[in-house]
Amino acid sequence: MTIGEAFDTTVRLHARREALVVRHQNLRYSWGELAEVVEDCARGLLALGLLPGDRVGIWAPNCAEWCIAQFATAKVGAILVNINPAYRLNELEYALKQSGCRWLICAEQFKSSDYHAMLAELIPELADSPPGGLHAPQLAELRGVISLARTPPAGMLGWAKLLGLAGQISHDVLRRRQAQLQFDDPINIQYTSGTTGFPKGAALSHYNILNNGYMVGESLGLSEQDRMVIPVPLYHCFGMVMGNLGCMTHGSTMIYPGPAFEPLSTLQAVAEERATVLYGVPTMFIAELDHPRRAEFDLSSLRTGIMAGATCPIEVMKRVIEQMHMAEVQIAYGMTETSPVSTQSAADDPLELRVASVGRTQPHLETKLVDEQGNVVPRGQIGELCTRGYSVMLGYWNNQEATQESIDEAKWMHSGDLAVMDEAGYLKIVGRSKDMIIRGGENIYPREIEEFLFTHPAVADVQVIGIPDSKYGEEVAAWVKLHPDQVLTAEALAEYCKGRIAHFKVPRHFRFVEEFPMTVTGKVQKFRMRELMQAELA
Ligand code: ATP
Ligand code: MG
Repeated sequence: MTIGEAFDTTVRLHARREALVVRHQNLRYSWGELAEVVEDCARGLLALGLLPGDRVGIWAPNCAEWCIAQFATAKVGAILVNINPAYRLNELEYALKQSGCRWLICAEQFKSSDYHAMLAELIPELADSPPGGLHAPQLAELRGVISLARTPPAGMLGWAKLLGLAGQISHDVLRRRQAQLQFDDPINIQYTSGTTGFPKGAALSHYNILNNGYMVGESLGLSEQDRMVIPVPLYHCFGMVMGNLGCMTHGSTMIYPGPAFEPLSTLQAVAEERATVLYGVPTMFIAELDHPRRAEFDLSSLRTGIMAGATCPIEVMKRVIEQMHMAEVQIAYGMTETSPVSTQSAADDPLELRVASVGRTQPHLETKLVDEQGNVVPRGQIGELCTRGYSVMLGYWNNQEATQESIDEAKWMHSGDLAVMDEAGYLKIVGRSKDMIIRGGENIYPREIEEFLFTHPAVADVQVIGIPDSKYGEEVAAWVKLHPDQVLTAEALAEYCKGRIAHFKVPRHFRFVEEFPMTVTGKVQKFRMRELMQAELA
C-alpha cells in the first residue's frame, strides 16, 4: 500500500472525525476537509508538472501546510525532502543541491527581504541580475519556490495560487497517478539530527515509513478516539512518521501546539484539547515537568505517549507517569535510517523494565548486538545495535559510500549505538560508541554516571562527556543544570559521588550551565560540548 492509499482509506472510514488541529494557526480539519485540501494541493503539484520521483523540499516549522504537503506529495509520488527550519543559507543550499529539489515550499517566516535575497541568489529566475552573474552557485534543478507567506514575495508562487492550480487537473488524473505508484518507491528524504556531525539524508519508501508509523500506533493502542499532541518537529521522523503517520493509520487526531516546541503551549494544548497522547524527547518532558505553571493545567486526559530520541532518565520517566498521568507512557528507540522505530516498550511491561529499557524489538523486525568483529555478543554484554527488516531505509540519498558503511551485505543497518540485551530480549541503550569514554584503559559509559547524578535532588539535567587528558587519555566531565533556586558547588557534587560510584567514574570537571548545545530536534550535541571544553582547557 502507498501512503496515498492508506490516507484515502482513513478518509473513507473517518470522514467526519477531527483529523488535524493547528492551534497557532487557529485551524481545524476533519478527515474529509483535510482530504479536500490535500487533493487540491496534489492536483496543484501535478499542474506544476511534477513527476514521480521529483523532489520537493519543505523548509518550514510545524504548520497545517506541512501536513497537507506531506500527504499531497505522497499522492503524486514526489519525494518530500524535509528541511530543518533552523537551517540557514549554507545548509539549505546543501540540502537543496544534495537532494536535487525541483520545488521548495518555504515558510512565512522566510519571506523577509534577507531570505528572499538569499533565495534569489540560489534561483536565477528570482534574481534581478542575469543568471550566472551571482557569486552563489546556481541550482540547476530548482524550478521555483512556493511561499507560505500570506503575501508572497515577487517571483514566488503563493500557497493559495498553488491550490488554485488544482482546477487545471481533473481528479481522475490524480487517481491515475496515484495508482501508478509503487509501495517501495522512495517518497521521503529525511536528514538525521546532526547529533554527531553533519546531517545525512536517508531515502525512505512508502513501505518503510507507512508501516513504521502504523506499528508505532499499534503499540500505543491508538484508535479514532485518540488525540495526540505533537510538539516534536514534523521535519523529523518523530513528527512526520510516529506522529502524522501513526495518527493517520489509526484515524486519530493530530494536534500541533505551536510552530516549534515550547513547554507552555504544549501543556495548554494537552489541557484544552483533552489530549490522550503526548510525544517528546526527554528534554521536552523535563521542561514541561519543571514548568512553573504546570499545576494550572488539567493533564488528566493523557493516557500514553512516547519518550524517545535520546536517553530517557529513569527519574524523568517516573515523574511523567506520576505527575503527567501518562501511566502507559512508552520508550521507543530508533534512528532516521530505520523509519525510525526499532524497539519499543509495551504498556503492560513491568514498570521497572519499562523505565529502565527501550523495550523489545518491534514486530516484523530483527535486532542483534555485535562486537567489533561483527560477532553476536552473549546476552548481557555490550555490543553495537543493528536492525534488519522492512524499516531499513533504501539508502543515504546520493551517497553510496555512506550507505555501504552502514548497511552491510546481509542488510543489517549498523547504528553506532551500544546496547545490552537481557534474556527476555529487553534492550538497554548504553550510549553511542562515539560518546564512550576510555579513561586509563577503562570503558566508561556516560549514561551510567548521568543516571547517578540525576539522583541528586538539586540536579535538573546532566550530560557527561569525555575530554582529552594527558595522563589518562580521556577524563570525565559533567555539565549540570540545576533546579531553579538551587545552589551546588563542584566540590559538593564530587563529594556526593565519592563512595557511591567507582573513583574513576567521578567527573573531574563540573560545569554548571543553563543550556546544553542542542540540535533542533532537542538532542544534546556532545561533540560540541567536547569542542567547547577542549578549547577552554587548552
Ligand atoms: P546524526 O546521525 O546526524 O549524528 P542522530 O543519530 O541523533 O544524528 P536521529 O536519526 O534523529 O539522528 O537519531 C537517532 C539516534 O538517537 C539513535 O542512533 C540513538 O543514538 C538516539 N536514540 C534514539 N532513541 C533513543 C532512546 N530511546 N534512548 C537512547 N538513545 C536514543
Ligand atoms: Mg545517527
